[in-house]
Amino acid sequence: MKVAVFSAKSYDKQFMNETNKKYNFNHELEFFETRLKLKTAELAAGFNAVSVFVNDDLSGEVIEILNNSGVKLIALRSAGYNNVDLKKAAELGITVTHVPSYSPYAVAEHAVAMILTLNRKIHKSYSRVRDGNFELDGLMGFDVRNKMIGVIGTGKIGEIFAKIMKGFGCGIFAYDKYENDDCKNNGVMYRPLEEVLAKSDIISLHCPLLPETHHLINEKTIAMMKNGVMIINTSRGALIDTQAVINGLKSKKIGYLGLDVYEEEANLFFRNMSNKVIQDDVFMRLLSFPNVVVTAHQGFFTDEALKNISETTLSGIHCFEIGHECKNIIKLKP
Ligand code: NAD
Repeated sequence: MKVAVFSAKSYDKQFMNETNKKYNFNHELEFFETRLKLKTAELAAGFNAVSVFVNDDLSGEVIEILNNSGVKLIALRSAGYNNVDLKKAAELGITVTHVPSYSPYAVAEHAVAMILTLNRKIHKSYSRVRDGNFELDGLMGFDVRNKMIGVIGTGKIGEIFAKIMKGFGCGIFAYDKYENDDCKNNGVMYRPLEEVLAKSDIISLHCPLLPETHHLINEKTIAMMKNGVMIINTSRGALIDTQAVINGLKSKKIGYLGLDVYEEEANLFFRNMSNKVIQDDVFMRLLSFPNVVVTAHQGFFTDEALKNISETTLSGIHCFEIGHECKNIIKLKP
């Protein structure tokens, strides 16, 4: 199939070309570094499918343009699909696939890396030691053992995250709309959201971005938390009201913040902005706190995950091409 691959980085090209060759899919892949958005949607003219990532814009308007260009398949290279107007796609008969599970370990382990970095201030000590400063003042952490962890969303990633934290000797509270039996068997204690927020030393977000979870962390929910709480978000930026966490950091209610995602990341992440003047003052304020660590949406970025992403995406396109049932189609919920 002729596939326009948007938001394509060098690693996407490498993994997708290797997979295409390995399985003899013979897809005609054309790589566009640009994001898919209103201004660039016309690049898809003449293609049967587009392959897109987390910050591509698949709003109704963009999908209309894709439809007029002959696109019949949108193949997401991500698990989350909050950026797609599924209703419009269904209306126009466009199939949407995603990669439901490429490596939950990659994201769960990244969340743990953020906890350890913030707690033991590795980001500070790394530059101190390189600067010949071997003092320890200001670097004191705490034992993670016996701390209470709050997991919001115990799907594939949340479940693994909970298991890892259990291995550290932590107690695990969780909130999810649907309780996961494997988590319960592993000692996870499901509680109402308010209780999880109030009793946890470290809160890690692993639920999808939906209208009901938008700004789940806000002034009101932050006020329920323990003083000095650590918040980790490797899920989607808009789960957090950024201004509210900035206020929480200033008042010291929030003691540590680890973000792999940011609500306005689409204009920043996945590119080199080191020679540019960053215009997002809210983001720059976040970076000014010593107890905030931000990574640029790299939770998924492991060798295993990239292999799985390209294999699932290209085999889904192959199934669609030969008319086979594809198991990764996103079905519109009634
Ligand atoms: P999943 O679908 O397996 O699990 C999500 C869980 O959230 C489910 O158990 C679901 O019941 C629960 N949930 C739904 N609504 C909820 C609500 N209102 N409150 C609490 N829980 C709710 O998904 P997953 O594979 O574990 O991924 C979780 C999220 O991680 C994705 O939605 C995506 O946004 C994010 N993600 C980030 C990266 C990254 O690179 N940082 C990579 C992959 C996924």
